[in-house]
Amino acid sequence: MTEPRVQDELTEVLEEAREIGWGDPADYLRDIQRRDLDALAAAVCRTDGEVVGVGDHDRLLALQSVSKAFTYAVALQECGLDRVLDHIGVEPTGEAFNELSQHEDGRPFNPLINAGAIMAQALIPGDSQQDRDALLLDRYSALACAQLEVNEEVLRAEQVRGDRNFALAHMLASSGMLTHDPHEVVQGYLRQCSVEVTTTQLAVMGATFAGGGRNPVTGERIFDERVVQQTLSVMLTCGMYDASGRWVAQVGIPAKSGVSGAMLGVVPGALGLASWSPRLDGHGNSIRGVEIFRRLSDRWDLHVLRHRDPLGHPGEPNEPA
Ligand code: GLU
Repeated sequence: MTEPRVQDELTEVLEEAREIGWGDPADYLRDIQRRDLDALAAAVCRTDGEVVGVGDHDRLLALQSVSKAFTYAVALQECGLDRVLDHIGVEPTGEAFNELSQHEDGRPFNPLINAGAIMAQALIPGDSQQDRDALLLDRYSALACAQLEVNEEVLRAEQVRGDRNFALAHMLASSGMLTHDPHEVVQGYLRQCSVEVTTTQLAVMGATFAGGGRNPVTGERIFDERVVQQTLSVMLTCGMYDASGRWVAQVGIPAKSGVSGAMLGVVPGALGLASWSPRLDGHGNSIRGVEIFRRLSDRWDLHVLRHRDPLGHPGEPNEPA
């Protein structure tokens, strides 16, 4: 599909989603999000590096829980699969993102709930929390092809209502999983949630996953293919809070959403797709974002489980004689 056609179709879908006028931002971010309440953006980055953004695609938003996917990938890249699996499971929970969903041995169920994301943050190598913060920001920036920064206002709001995250970290420490200072690790987790990107940059970050770990714009290999496969697997099964099952059935691509209204989707081998609209549904997913992804999945045939015949068996109806 040509770039102007992608732009036209993305614009059309964005305008269709704009008609949905309900949904609220998260309570604790209401003051910050009030000015962005009707912001709406979508962007695509293909694995050949071509980027198309529409709507408010160059305005900044906080990554929030979308950061969990990137931190998990950095932890896998730096520590290896076995060590990460020793600390974090890969099971969906069906529970809220901030529940203490742990296996009997203390491992959080998956890296995309808060307990698992706090654990992933603690696996990032470094002699201090500052080292871990710096490494993560460096990797996020390499993914986005831009020097990213923390939004201090968002960070303060996260710290003010951080009790539950501090509690989760202390529980992980009490079960022997977390050996760093729980407070420092949660501060690092809240910082990663507060890193700002544009919707276009988020699509580029996703395209690195789509390209098997190589950034399509700079050509830098950031993750091994195995790391990407592992990360996309948990995004597919656990990325959309407790609406992940319906997401797979309806949209069918690995994705992660965040309380800022950010959404990231990945079509392996093809593209990274991002959207932003702070109006959230009861699960914490962006209402307009889900609509954008649902429509694009239908239009562009994105569902990763749709029928394909990679071996082209002779005699199959779709095999020309
Ligand atoms: N910083 C938020 C928290 O831990 C992330 C929420 C989200 O995006 O799901 O509560």
